[in-house]
Amino acid sequence: MLNMQELLSLVKGRVAIGEEMREHTSFRIGGPADFFIEPMDRQDFIRAVGFFTSRRIPFVILGRGSNILVHDEGIRGGVIMTGTALQQFSIKKQQVEADAGVSVSLLAEKTFSSSLGGIELLQGIPGTVGGAVRMNAGAWGQEIFQVLSWVEVLRGGRTSVLYPDELEYGYRQGGFGSEIVLRAGFRLKRLSEREHAERSRRVQEIRLQRARTQPLSFPNAGSVFKNPERSIGGESLSAGALIDRCGLKGYSCGGALVSELHGNFIVNTGSASAADVMKLVEVIRNRVAERFGVVLELEIGLLGFDGVICR
Ligand SMILES: Cc1cc2nc3c(=O)[nH]c(=O)nc-3n(C[C@H](O)[C@H](O)[C@H](O)COP(=O)(O)OP(=O)(O)OC[C@H]3O[C@@H](n4cnc5c(N)ncnc54)[C@H](O)[C@@H]3O)c2cc1C
Repeated sequence: MLNMQELLSLVKGRVAIGEEMREHTSFRIGGPADFFIEPMDRQDFIRAVGFFTSRRIPFVILGRGSNILVHDEGIRGGVIMTGTALQQFSIKKQQVEADAGVSVSLLAEKTFSSSLGGIELLQGIPGTVGGAVRMNAGAWGQEIFQVLSWVEVLRGGRTSVLYPDELEYGYRQGGFGSEIVLRAGFRLKRLSEREHAERSRRVQEIRLQRARTQPLSFPNAGSVFKNPERSIGGESLSAGALIDRCGLKGYSCGGALVSELHGNFIVNTGSASAADVMKLVEVIRNRVAERFGVVLELEIGLLGFDGVICR
C-alpha cells in the first residue's frame, strides 16, 4: 500500500493527489491521476521511480503529454513527469547530449543554430526528448533514431546505456519495454554555410506547412494514427489521406472533431471527453477498414484505459 507520508518525505519536488491530467496533456483531456509527481532533479526522479517500483504500484512516465489520450476516469497509480527534473543538455562539436525532459523542438533549434544538421526538421514537435526517443519521433524524412548514438535508461532501479542496434526500433517505435529514458546522445552532421542556408529554407517551408496544414489553434495530440506500411491500390497513402477520402474531415463525436485541415488530427473543440475521441477513433477505423481494407493503428498512446498504458 502507498504510504503518503513516506512519499512526501522522499520526493523533494511537487506531489499532488488527484491532479487533473487535462492540465498536462496537449489534448486538454483526461481525469485525475491518483499520484502526480514532478521531481525536482535527476536524483529525485530516480527516487520517485524507485518508490513506485519497490511497492509494485503502477506508474507512468510523461514528458509533455503531447502523444497521449488519458481516460476520463484518469489514471490509477502514479504519473511521474520528466520536465523539471531532466533538463540538462550540451553540444560539443558534433556530439549532443540531452536529458529526457528537454524540449525536442528547442534541441532541434539550438543544434541547427550551432550549424549541426540531422534534427532541424523536428522543430515544432511539442514533446520531450524522452517521448521522442521512446517512439522514434520524426517528421519530413528525419527520425530521432537516424542520429541517436546511445540512450541512458533506468530499468529495475539501475541505470544502463543502450545502443540503437540493441533496440528493435522502427517507424514510430523505439523498441523499448519498461525502460525509462533518462538521457540520450546524438551525433549530428556539421553543416557548411551553403548547406546551412539550404536547410534553413527547408526549415522555413516546413514551419509554414505545419502552420497551414495542422490545426494548431485547437488542443490535439498530433497524428492519431500511424501511416499504413503497405501501399493501397498501388498508391502509398497516408492515414490522413485515407481518412480524407472517406469524407470524414469535419466529422464529430461530442466535442471531438476530425480536423478540416488534416484528416489524421482529431481536435478538442472545447469540451471533448476521452470517450468522444475513442468513439471517433472507432468510426474512422471502421470506415477506413470497410473502404480500403486497412486497419489503422493508433500512434497516440492510451493511458488509464486498460491498466496503465496500452497502444
Ligand atoms: C501539434 C502536434 C504536432 C506533432 N508533430 C509530430 C511530428 O511531426 N512527429 C512526431 O513524431 N510526433 C509529433 N507529435 C506527437 C508528439 O509531440 C511526439 O510524439 C513527442 O515525441 C511526444 O513527446 P512527449 O514528451 O509529449 O511524450 P508523452 O506524450 O508525454 O508520452 C508519450 C509516450 O512516451 C512515454 N514516455 C515519455 N517520456 C518517457 C521517458 N523519459 N522514458 C520512457 N517513456 C517515456 C510515455 O509513457 C508515453 O507512453 C505532434 C504532437 C502535436 C500535439
